[in-house]
Amino acid sequence: MNYTMERWNIGKSMDLFGVNEWGGGYFFIAENGDMMVMPEPGAADRAVSIAAIADGIRERGFDMPVLLRIENILDSQITSLNETFRAAMEELGYNGTFMGAYPIKVNQQQQVVEKITQFGSRYHHGLEAGSKAELIAAMGMLTDKQAVLICNGYKDEEFIDLGLYATKIGYTCILVVEMPDELPLIIERSKKLAAKPILGIRIKLSAQAGGHWSESGGERSIFGLNTSQIIQAVDLLIAAGMLDCLKLVHYHLGSQISNIREIRTAVNEACRVYAGLVKEGAQVTYLDLGGGLAVDYDGSQSNFLSSRNYTLKEYCTDIIEAVMTSLDDEQIPHPIIITESGRALVAYYSILLFNVLDVTRFQSGTLPATMPEDCPPQLEYMHQALKDMTVRNIQEVFNDVIYYRDETRRLFQIGQISLRQRSLAEQLFWATISEINRLSKELKHVSTDLTDLDRVLSDFYYCNFSVFQSLPDSWAIGQLFPIMPIHRLNEEPTRKGILADITCDCDGKIDQFIDKRGVKRYLPLHELKPHEEYILGTFLVGAYQETLGDLHNLLGDTNVVTIRILDQGEFEFVTEQEGDTVAEVLSYVQYDPKRLFIRFRKTAEQAIRAGRITAQERREIVQAYEAGLRGYTYFER
Ligand SMILES: *Cc1c(COP(=O)(O)O)cnc(C)c1O
Repeated sequence: MNYTMERWNIGKSMDLFGVNEWGGGYFFIAENGDMMVMPEPGAADRAVSIAAIADGIRERGFDMPVLLRIENILDSQITSLNETFRAAMEELGYNGTFMGAYPIKVNQQQQVVEKITQFGSRYHHGLEAGSKAELIAAMGMLTDKQAVLICNGYKDEEFIDLGLYATKIGYTCILVVEMPDELPLIIERSKKLAAKPILGIRIKLSAQAGGHWSESGGERSIFGLNTSQIIQAVDLLIAAGMLDCLKLVHYHLGSQISNIREIRTAVNEACRVYAGLVKEGAQVTYLDLGGGLAVDYDGSQSNFLSSRNYTLKEYCTDIIEAVMTSLDDEQIPHPIIITESGRALVAYYSILLFNVLDVTRFQSGTLPATMPEDCPPQLEYMHQALKDMTVRNIQEVFNDVIYYRDETRRLFQIGQISLRQRSLAEQLFWATISEINRLSKELKHVSTDLTDLDRVLSDFYYCNFSVFQSLPDSWAIGQLFPIMPIHRLNEEPTRKGILADITCDCDGKIDQFIDKRGVKRYLPLHELKPHEEYILGTFLVGAYQETLGDLHNLLGDTNVVTIRILDQGEFEFVTEQEGDTVAEVLSYVQYDPKRLFIRFRKTAEQAIRAGRITAQERREIVQAYEAGLRGYTYFER
């Protein structure tokens, strides 16, 4: 091994953490080791240090964890989606246009939807609602009448009426028929309210898409009409004299479609249906391809679940080419292409920042210089194996040491080995495993047992956040997110860690990390420094994470801070939202904090009468309880 120490530098950190690969052009590391964020790709002259933002947040009295949103990134992502489609259409000679519709479910926070309608207005970027509540939010937020307001989801009479009213007051509100039953009701309600609806139909595709959510596409999907149901719908509309209301063909393959081939196949099939409807006499003008535009979370540019094997430009070009190829043959005018991209628009703009509270280092402990006299033979064997180990026999020693460790555990259970002897056996075991791991690095080929030792021997970094609340997809579907320190990146990260959250739940941990080739089982991290916060960031968390979170262990919403990057690398705080207090999360699960407080005061009063505490002590205890109710649910320094 070559131990000539080449100094660690920021380039090595960029590479180690794959910043250029997953960062979408928004992040880099500065000479001083700080992670920097740019308002748009390539705008390094206006970059801001995330560590400096974190300092600013703490100076304003907000504790970690904090969800940091960078407004400019949302703006930039909307621009890039719209401009890339526009440029591709121009290049290929497409005669239609592009219109986006942001699906509210991806991040329903008022602030997010407001910013999307604001930044999107120059492109008439619209909204997609999948439920009544989302439609009500959308009607309140969207002011642009040219932008589309798409209503998906199963609709009852109230939902339909709301959509019809929206059309009456001038919105381009499109009611998408998801189920055969909906159409008669829509026809009936529109006659009753004397409103001419704009209709779409969601089609079932036979093309199957991979990915976590593949059930929402494909023949077996819950929503959408199959071909015979489509024809029935057409006949129903003809009978009602409303075929001219049918304007849109829609499908949704699922989210995070990693493989461009699946996207192309689906467009092709949808175009065939579109062409068929034109021939049936429908005046369709919109082709709505749903969501699915993926985010390359691990930076591998592959069809791995956390990645995508295409760029935004390829996505746009492939879609337009597929539409043109299908429809030009039949001399059908090019439709207005709609996509309902959610994930790709909002993922980049939020970063979860949290501090490390403590570390349990992996330590094999110090072994005694000589083995005690009355040592059982199993321990002697283990000791000897450790002494005799070389690079050549590590696999054999590995097998032996596991055997003897298990054997000593068994002997302990039947009372033939003392507690102290068993403890020595465990120490020998871990010392041997560490040594095997060290030696295995000199080998070219090692068994998977041995490659897994990095994970087994990593440290636990206890972090101030809840996986269940802030990264639900990490826990529920094993989604990978880029995680890394936001400072000290000019120092070599010499430790290997697994992250544990403060729930102390065995699922409350992150032990899978992004890697250009597959998945890493540990995260390179720095040693903690005394009296200095060590802050990690989880990136690309803007999509789907914020509202899926549950109240596991009653850890509530985190503080949220939104900044805007100004010229010359300055930034301003746009909004600060305090996270949930303990009283708030308790009330979500039907406790009444006032009554809890009253009951607690009574209990404390009884303690005075029982002579356990003084009246003065009661005052302090009651104050602490009250402060606890008002406090943040996370660890406060
Ligand atoms: C969830 C959903 C989307 C969003 O998909 P992304 O992959 O996040 O872009 C779009 N349309 C419909 C109908 C959806 O259900």
